[in-house]
Amino acid sequence: MSNGRSRRSVEGLKSRLTTSGSATEKGIIPLNPQDPPLILPLTVIAGDQTESAPPPAPVGAMSVGELRDSHHRVIRDLRLSITDRCNYRCTYCMDPDFRYMPKKELLSLEEYLTLARVCVSLGVEKIRITGGEPTMYPQLNEVIEYLGSLPLRDLALTTNGSLLDKKPLRRWHAAGLKRITLSLDSLQPDRVKAITRTNTGPETVIRAIEIAREAGFDPIKVNAVIMRNVNEDEIADFADFAREHDIDMRFIEFMPLDSSRTWDRSKVVTADEMLEKISTRHELVPLDQSDPHSTSLNYTFADGAPGRIGIIAPVTRVFCGACSRLRITADGKVRPCLFSHKEWDIRPVLRSGGSDEDIAAFLRDATWTKQKGHGISEAGFVQPERTMSAIGG
Ligand code: SAM
Ligand code: SF4
Repeated sequence: MSNGRSRRSVEGLKSRLTTSGSATEKGIIPLNPQDPPLILPLTVIAGDQTESAPPPAPVGAMSVGELRDSHHRVIRDLRLSITDRCNYRCTYCMDPDFRYMPKKELLSLEEYLTLARVCVSLGVEKIRITGGEPTMYPQLNEVIEYLGSLPLRDLALTTNGSLLDKKPLRRWHAAGLKRITLSLDSLQPDRVKAITRTNTGPETVIRAIEIAREAGFDPIKVNAVIMRNVNEDEIADFADFAREHDIDMRFIEFMPLDSSRTWDRSKVVTADEMLEKISTRHELVPLDQSDPHSTSLNYTFADGAPGRIGIIAPVTRVFCGACSRLRITADGKVRPCLFSHKEWDIRPVLRSGGSDEDIAAFLRDATWTKQKGHGISEAGFVQPERTMSAIGG
């Protein structure tokens, strides 16, 4: 092992790929229980430039127990993707013919847990479990139970909510899962169907809000990606929805991470526009922004109604300067930024018996390469190969 890391190729793993296994492994995607399955061939998706090991960070660049990048930012927040599979095909995320990564490319349960544990030993305080759709991961209970036992300030899950009624939410809450964030991009049944490309309606998420609350989760966040001429006319309705259901409603600017690559700036509804549309119906009061790493601008309602509003504006109000996030994909790529074009493959370290120190050295070197910003508004910006679903939102 050189520089504390193995550089063993993963080609051997690829050559052992098999298409036997369950329906989902074969690429048969049940969009909804009522729908006929959509059958897709199983193929490797093209990735961004993957290298097996990052260059070593300068000696003394950071103290032993931390993850620090070359722009003086310290990592506290891990986004851990445990699957690239999803039972939806949201228009802004995944095309209908989007190809999953072969199952054997994905990390094992033990590998996810090892990475999480080492990240916590390096100062990570918050983990968000994501995907793809993380509730499709068969060992999600084990993930939550283990991560819940780690000394974390926050453990959260992002989900489309479609499978929550079949999950042991009380057990998750008792195990230490603190927060659940749901996704819902329209309150109109036909639109939800069109956006998710399923037969699901908004009632699925409304039910998920209820069962999450009954299990003890509070507050509950709901994300909506706002897109020009798609759902921008519902922004004020979503504010009503926040008040009615006492939730944190978070409006997200559309980002260039869709597999159809149809993003362009004209489709982004800006934070200013969102706030203006809400203000036609409700007066908002800004909340204290004391967490410098927060990605959202947060508001309450001036009339004291329940619910809150959050605006996540990565395109028009760039928050890269205070970024404290690191991402690990379901196939073991360490991505210092959502918009990285380079990612670092930690599987060879894991699969050659690398010690915790080897894994930590790899993570520290990878973090050092974190780019200064996403550059969406800069000339020459190029959308990464990986979609949001294959990175983890
Ligand atoms: N499947 C789960 C869900 O939809 O909540 C978790 C994974 S999903 C990739 C995480 C979040 O990313 C969701 O809230 C989704 O709306 C958001 N997202 C996906 N593609 C996006 C894009 N192009 N721009 C902005 N947000 C996006
Ligand atoms: Fe699936 Fe979430 Fe992407 Fe929608 S946004 S396709 S639910 S991963």
